[in-house]
Amino acid sequence: MDLDGKTVVVVGLAQTGIAVAKFCAKRGARVIVTDGKSAEQLATQVSQLDGVDVRFELGGHNLTTYLAAELIVMSPGVPSLPETRGAAAAGIEVIAEIELAYRFLDPGATVLAITGTNGKSTTTALTGKLCEASGRPTFCGGNLGNMPMIDAVDHPANVPGGLIVVEVAAFMLENCSTFRARAGVLTNITEDHLDRFGTMERYAEMKGRIWDFQRAGDLAIANAADPWVVRETAGIPSEVYLFDSRPGASVERGAFLSADRTQIVLRMPGLGEERYPVDDLVIVGNHNMENAMCAYLSARGAGVPIEAVRAGARAYRPLPHRMELVGDKSNIYFYDDSKGTNVASVAASVRGFPRPLVLIAGGVDKGGSYEPMLEALDGVCKGIILIGKAAPLIRDAAIAHRAEYPVIDAADMHEAVRRATELCSSGDAVVLSPACASYDMFQNFGHRGRVFREAVAAVGATPK
Ligand code: ADP
Repeated sequence: MDLDGKTVVVVGLAQTGIAVAKFCAKRGARVIVTDGKSAEQLATQVSQLDGVDVRFELGGHNLTTYLAAELIVMSPGVPSLPETRGAAAAGIEVIAEIELAYRFLDPGATVLAITGTNGKSTTTALTGKLCEASGRPTFCGGNLGNMPMIDAVDHPANVPGGLIVVEVAAFMLENCSTFRARAGVLTNITEDHLDRFGTMERYAEMKGRIWDFQRAGDLAIANAADPWVVRETAGIPSEVYLFDSRPGASVERGAFLSADRTQIVLRMPGLGEERYPVDDLVIVGNHNMENAMCAYLSARGAGVPIEAVRAGARAYRPLPHRMELVGDKSNIYFYDDSKGTNVASVAASVRGFPRPLVLIAGGVDKGGSYEPMLEALDGVCKGIILIGKAAPLIRDAAIAHRAEYPVIDAADMHEAVRRATELCSSGDAVVLSPACASYDMFQNFGHRGRVFREAVAAVGATPK
């Protein structure tokens, strides 16, 4: 793809938009960056493009600008706008940042892509570790961390034999038309982002697009226990590899756990059956076994040797804000699971938790039911402390669930941690796992986790 002299509109001025604007300007495009937020709100982002030849249109979107574009590149968080729909209807190509990146990749580089409601970051980071352990040049990024996929283009991994591991959000798949992954993982599809996609059908369909442009022989790695995921495998061009963590499960092609649950068993055509000890991994819980199965299948599918898979697994450490132990005080343990931004993720984190716990939850509601979380809390929960806008909704759900523990409102994170600590006895845990988005009170989930950590220190806990 040649961008020289082309008029490119970049929609959304955040980290990805900044990277895309630089990328296109460097390749000779006339770049216009647009965002609904005002120049004052975006002062920091604008300054990051100092010295780059771009024009800004901030504080709103202008259809004339869109119609004059030759290419429109969408940042991940931006919804479809009337202006982008208008431009698309006029025949102008509207693509996601990952689609743009993909078009600049060396055909000999291998893309491994991971999507799903939960487990994306863990699976992506673990897959990256396994790939790195093979010694082949590896890029690991996408939605994860600070590395949008566009950065892969100028990365040493963009060569024949290179490995490009990317976490992909459903928002991005909406605007893809050729993006092909050698292995495409769909971890699960549960209620999340219904605020944006409206229905589960539409949300599932978007996630399923991870497989739509694959070819025969590529790996479509799918959760056998998730009917929405399985439904999306219908009619795809690639080979379906199922993973199944349920007791007693076994699959013909894919991955499952041994009967004693001490080994991850892979079955791949041409490779036969392989067994990997669960003890190679420090991450625990059923959901993490699923993440590991996805990572192992992807890596093996890309030719990463068995020894590298094992070495990478042993070197892997959990990501911050995912059930991270951040402090303890007189035998009360404080866990930061700020990344638990939806109900299914909280349910996965607390189900069968080894200690009685007090949950801190709330924030911006995502439009689903809280019942799966409340059900997972039965038997382990001593109380819920509520913060943020969704507090009344969670309270109503707890009443409907006939929860027998106290449900208490708190004005901010510091009060929440104080109240939670009061409900604990020796041996209990306080878990921040909000089941909601953070932006009513915090910049993002990382910020929410850091404020939790401060509040934990403020009640006199020893930091970890
Ligand atoms: P994502 O990037 O999709 O948000 P993460 O790997 O960051 O996923 O995990 C976020 C939270 O989701 C974890 O703290 C955990 O509670 C839950 N989780 C992780 N993996 C899975 C999985 N495979 N299935 C269900 N829940 C999961």
